[in-house]
Amino acid sequence: MKGLMQDHPLLLTGVLDYAARWHPEQVVVTRTVEGPIVRSTYAEVHERARLCALALRRLGITQGDRVATLAWNTCRHLESWYGIMGLGAVCHTLNPRLFLADLEYIINHAEDKILMLDLDLAGLIAKLRPKLPTVQQFIVLTDRQHMHKVEEAGLQGCLCYEDLIDAERQYLSGFQWVRVDENDACGLCYTSGTTGRPKGVLYSHRSNYLQSFTMSMPDACCLTSATTVLAIVPMFHANSWALAFGAPMFGAKLVLPGPYLDGESLYSLLESECCTMSAGVPTIFTALLTYLRETQKRLSMLKLITIGGAACPPLLLEAFQGEYGVEMRHMWGMTELSPIGSCAGFKGTLPPMSKKEQLALQLKQGRPPIFVDMRIVDDSGKVLPHDGKAYGDLQVRGPHVISRYFRHDKDATLEDNWFTTGDVATIDRYGHFQITDRSKDVIKSGGEWVSSIEVEGVIMSHPAVLEAAVIGVPHPKWTERPLLVVVPHPGRQPSKDELLGYFRGKIAKWWIPDDVVFVKEIPHTATGKVSKLTLRQQLKDYQSS
Ligand code: ADP
Repeated sequence: MKGLMQDHPLLLTGVLDYAARWHPEQVVVTRTVEGPIVRSTYAEVHERARLCALALRRLGITQGDRVATLAWNTCRHLESWYGIMGLGAVCHTLNPRLFLADLEYIINHAEDKILMLDLDLAGLIAKLRPKLPTVQQFIVLTDRQHMHKVEEAGLQGCLCYEDLIDAERQYLSGFQWVRVDENDACGLCYTSGTTGRPKGVLYSHRSNYLQSFTMSMPDACCLTSATTVLAIVPMFHANSWALAFGAPMFGAKLVLPGPYLDGESLYSLLESECCTMSAGVPTIFTALLTYLRETQKRLSMLKLITIGGAACPPLLLEAFQGEYGVEMRHMWGMTELSPIGSCAGFKGTLPPMSKKEQLALQLKQGRPPIFVDMRIVDDSGKVLPHDGKAYGDLQVRGPHVISRYFRHDKDATLEDNWFTTGDVATIDRYGHFQITDRSKDVIKSGGEWVSSIEVEGVIMSHPAVLEAAVIGVPHPKWTERPLLVVVPHPGRQPSKDELLGYFRGKIAKWWIPDDVVFVKEIPHTATGKVSKLTLRQQLKDYQSS
């Protein structure tokens, strides 16, 4: 027998309708690309998103069309997301840090019809424009006053966002969002292509709606109408981890830093806007920590940081919690999961723990939330126990996990919807999992795994180390041995012995790398992660002793 309740679709436009109706006065603050800080409200965002939808419709956008955005975290970008999705079209977020060839590939693969871009990215698009046959219009997210800069950057014939939406005001009262099915596509984000060509992850209204709950839950980002969120994680990096949906869904104040992600700019927004929580990748918070220490400034309102995208260095977590009283929660995820796949608040059923044990638990990646089922398996597919020791391929499934990449003809999942994440992990008896490596980066020495993430975590707390990575290099006896690659802090030149000696007593003896290579720079992917693939290529001629 079916239940007798309403079949009400979970649509993202409903999120903005809700915020405009019940939190109309709640504020969205932006440090604009043009410079000044501007303030808006959910009521205004709602109105302008509908104007944007009208403008896009006039330019020919209909249900299922792809509209790309190449933009930072700003209010105009937020409005355009809802405007695009409100037509039943698909918002394709582009990462400006991608290589030009990758951008060209994914815009053409997605067949984007319109590209909306920020003013400062006009030069980048000017280079690509002749290679983008499907894009019919370029809209610059700025006002008339600044349009001359677009032409100066070499991009001609673009439309001005503010002009476009202004022209639609007279039609606003008759506008309705296009009614779509909750399983219809609304967003598209390509993985950064560390292995092969970038692959498109096509989100639905329903999957993003449910992801917004996952991300906002008390044991995750804990969003409420009293929260002020500084959304550092970019809207082009897996939908800003759904903060752009979660904040209006819970009536939270949203602060958007634009392209200014240096320590000083972030600190000034955290303080002037009284932000209570923030989210981003470890490198950003490392820069913020350096700024705080150098200037001896304090954080007056910040209570919670959720950190993810890469393993959180122990030093960072200890510093924010110990020196600044800000709880730091580790989150794990990937584009294919929408992206958050873990939460990390302490369980009420945990046994009493020492500070050191608590920290060790916090440095794990968390545990699965309600919409994510998780397991680890060995090479033969056998499910491994939750004993904190057995390592295996991490697999997940659930309503905001991918089933198939955009335009692929085969599913991305195994039997029973299990998706292999490409990460290797352990799961402990409390259900907390720990990523030990990406499967393609795993180091096997004498038949045993070495966790490069753990080795890196230790050495990152050495005061002379700015950045470090551990990769496997061939070895005649052990097949592979770990090699430590280090970028020293400017002005410091630690010796190899000093660094290798630092590991003693902190990790298993055979995990200690055999050698150290000093470099000026470690290669990164477009989402700011260490590219071990490139690093291995760069060091392919290294000979272990
Ligand atoms: P890509 O897969 O293209 O690099 P993603 O941003 O989707 O782009 O990256 C997902 C991967 O990032 C995960 O599979 C995992 O290896 C890594 N990752 C994400 N969060 C964490 C975390 N908290 N700790 C360790 N690794 C993480």
